[in-house]
Amino acid sequence: MAKLSIEAVSKYFDEHAAVDELSLAVEPGEFVALLGPSGCGKTTMLRMLAGFEPLTRGEIRLGGELLASPTHHLPPEQRHMAMVFQSYALWPHMSVADNVGYPLKLKKVRGEAYRKRVEQALSLVALEKYASRTPQDLSGGQRQRVALARCLVNEPAVVLLDEPLANLDRHLRAAMEQSFHEFHRRTEATMVYVTHDQGEAMALADRIAVMRDGRLVQWATPQTLYREPKSQWVASFIGQGSQLMIAAGEPGRRLSEAELMQGLAGTERTQAVLIRPEHVRVASTTPSDRDLVARVEHQVFRGERFELHLRLPGGEALLAYHPQALTPGQQVALTLTQGWCLESD
Ligand code: ATP
Repeated sequence: MAKLSIEAVSKYFDEHAAVDELSLAVEPGEFVALLGPSGCGKTTMLRMLAGFEPLTRGEIRLGGELLASPTHHLPPEQRHMAMVFQSYALWPHMSVADNVGYPLKLKKVRGEAYRKRVEQALSLVALEKYASRTPQDLSGGQRQRVALARCLVNEPAVVLLDEPLANLDRHLRAAMEQSFHEFHRRTEATMVYVTHDQGEAMALADRIAVMRDGRLVQWATPQTLYREPKSQWVASFIGQGSQLMIAAGEPGRRLSEAELMQGLAGTERTQAVLIRPEHVRVASTTPSDRDLVARVEHQVFRGERFELHLRLPGGEALLAYHPQALTPGQQVALTLTQGWCLESD
């Protein structure tokens, strides 16, 4: 089990930094997600890990061994890593077992050892019964699992996954999230998972590296990212919520109900605060003069609750959850139970 270290890695295409001074230390067996909007450098970082792309600056190490630097480049097949692509890249006319065993054939593994390892890899993704089928006869999710089994057959220390669920529909994605959990638990391999889907990253990863314009902007567990996002940009990228400007507070501080009320009453409002919808309480009583009031702009039915889009007297938008339907245009009394102060962008 080896620690994966990315140390101040940059990648320039001409003058443009696709990845800019990125550092991450990934623990052995950890499941990490590289998360960020399109073009932020996730795939470039993954390709540098895999050995498909040389580095402009920095170093990549696995268990202390130098894999890559501007002057050193270990070829992909010597890195103990395997990459799973969005497109699966399976051979359509080969059987599932032959697809999975292909990397072993390249390494001249034969006979009983070959058969056993293919069988083990297929059982890791629960596809033993499909060994003799061809990929054409499988569903999208099953094909993705064949691609996973093929990357596992070499027992890599690190599995690199580039948006592996992007081609699947919503239901299948949810089912595949389960498979990934199971797969990760059973292999104990370190996983680096690229996605622009924050829900997927939150559901799967132990820790998430949030990237913007080639830079790492936050590296934290899903819970910390949700509860304590560093900046206005991270807060708007992760989860739902509203940002208000208040008079008091400093970045990285949690504010109580009283502090929020005081901050909203101030005149010089320069501090951004994040209010998650679960921290907005909508009273069922008619608002009085002392209450913080808002107008219901519109509401969206989400099954177990309504999502209320509210407007404060100062014009700010505020999102809340409520168990019952309200009337658009109606005034409601609010309590903001807590807020989180953000760095401005
Ligand atoms: P997506 O989610 O859309 O795949 P990404 O976050 O994976 O995006 P990258 O594909 O890593 O982003 O690209 C990062 C930046 O580097 C982009 O501006 C992209 O245009 C640029 N880039 C990537 N590969 C090359 C290349 N071979 N030559 C020139 N520029 C490139």
